[in-house]
Amino acid sequence: MASIFTRIVNGEIPSYKVAENENYYAFLDINPLAKGHTLVIPKMEEDYIFNLPGDVYAGLWEFANKVAKAIDKAVPCKRVGVAVLGMEVPHAHIHLIPIQNESDMLFSNPKLQLSSEEFVAIAKAINEAWEGNRK
Ligand code: 5GP
Repeated sequence: MASIFTRIVNGEIPSYKVAENENYYAFLDINPLAKGHTLVIPKMEEDYIFNLPGDVYAGLWEFANKVAKAIDKAVPCKRVGVAVLGMEVPHAHIHLIPIQNESDMLFSNPKLQLSSEEFVAIAKAINEAWEGNRK
């Protein structure tokens, strides 16, 4: 059965998309630790990130780098923090989290409750920065 993230890529489950190319997809985490918390995934289905083929793995980080730069532009933050967990969803993904402090990266923190309008606005701002960086 397709993973929940493959179903998101295929449009079967809605997502707040921030960036996409042929092989990778980035969208807002539905339970964000911070505004702009983004998940970056390969379209290839593989549970464990370190089992991805080398070229897909390298491409994922290159794509995540560009998404992080777009987040940096669109969301006020000191840094974009990076985490890889994969404890919940068995489809490789990188968390990109705009942070002000080290403690903003704690996954035990309460998650933000955002309205769909807020999600749409954040995704739009990051997507515009993403598109702008490509020009
Ligand atoms: P992990 O597998 O890295 O431990 O956590 C998976 C992350 O995916 C969590 O932060 C969770 O909020 C997010 N997530 C799980 N299901 C969905 C979903 O259907 N849509 C979105 N946008 N995020 C999800």
